[in-house]
Amino acid sequence: MQQILVVNCGSSSLKFAIMDGTDNPPILEGIAERLGSEHSAISFKYAGNKTVQALHDHDHRGAVTAIKHWIDSNTDLALNIVGVGHRVVHGGETFSNSVVIDSEVLSGIEQCARFAPLHNLAHVKGIEVAQALFGDIPHVAVFDTAFHQTLEADQYLYPIPMRLYREHHFRKYGFHGTSYRYIAQKLATLGSDFALQNTLVAHLGNGASVCAIKAGHSVDTSMGITPLEGLMMGTRSGSLDPSLLAFISDAEKISMKEALDILNKDSGLKGISEISNDCRTIETAQAAGDDRAELALNMFASRTAKHLASVATNLESVDHIVFTGGIGENSPVIRAKICQRLAMMGIHLDLHANQISPRGEVSLISENHCKTNIWVIPTNEELLIAQDTLSLIESSASK
Ligand code: ADP
Repeated sequence: MQQILVVNCGSSSLKFAIMDGTDNPPILEGIAERLGSEHSAISFKYAGNKTVQALHDHDHRGAVTAIKHWIDSNTDLALNIVGVGHRVVHGGETFSNSVVIDSEVLSGIEQCARFAPLHNLAHVKGIEVAQALFGDIPHVAVFDTAFHQTLEADQYLYPIPMRLYREHHFRKYGFHGTSYRYIAQKLATLGSDFALQNTLVAHLGNGASVCAIKAGHSVDTSMGITPLEGLMMGTRSGSLDPSLLAFISDAEKISMKEALDILNKDSGLKGISEISNDCRTIETAQAAGDDRAELALNMFASRTAKHLASVATNLESVDHIVFTGGIGENSPVIRAKICQRLAMMGIHLDLHANQISPRGEVSLISENHCKTNIWVIPTNEELLIAQDTLSLIESSASK
């Protein structure tokens, strides 16, 4: 059996999993956190047991070295890692599919870093370290933006002078593409004609966005040139009047970049609830009668519903709505609040099915007579990264 090491490198964290490219749960998974600080540590979850180790070297190299050491020390598992799949946030207009990484691809990822500096530069670091330590096997990049490269110009352009697009590539790129592609593929297995139908997906996690999918292709999405646009999120404001940026900067006597930091890091559920960015914590506070928590949840649901209705204008019908991501998969409260606001589109939730939807499983939660199927489908971006890596390895071997 062949396996893929899936790596998702952030600026101070590195998530990883060893997968065989099937629906089987990961053989090994874990996360290295607080990279760059002397408290860095890495966790390994194997066969239901979690162990945590301090890292000797507190950087990305230290994390990948620890993963390699774990693999080399567990020879009884007879692991056969044939490739490494890297999640890359921004592929700009350069990458519309997953690719085997060579020096040209690496410099392409570096060039796209101007729109996602923290993410893409961390990915480059992770790729270089992984190539150095797992050098003799292919490395593949899978881009969050790639799935949305099918958007038409009337959707991806901002209504600003065309010159700015021509000269600087300022446009909507969209994110969560690997999750949306996974959902589209999974949905296609649930009904014979589903692959050709129209679907809205709400990926609701700490980062949150929606996507309209027509016959398996993205036709519109809520995130933009960066993941700040669109829905209200854990700490991001989502869409607002851009003049606010200048007002905040003036009023607080801070730079534009610092004002932008407020919109990215201190807004959203965290900014409104003044409790947490974590939906579960806010739901607990709401259940205990906290008004601000209630307001935050209502705003989150209302803005999600508005964006779903907005991207739906690119579809002739809405045959399916899918909820995914940590909130979408696990919060009946949020799903109910969103669907309530979409009743004018003929969207009707089965409240009982919504409430008992089993964790980690696909479930249908629409009322019987509702023309739109409402689904909960757990996403699995790591699986798609592993599958893309395996198929690119196979196709380059057969050339
Ligand atoms: P990320 O964007 O970081 O990948 P996730 O998809 O893991 O985030 O989603 C994290 C969010 O999911 C958090 O806000 C968390 O509170 C929320 N969440 C997880 N489980 C539940 C639950 N049972 N009820 C409500 N929210 C939940």
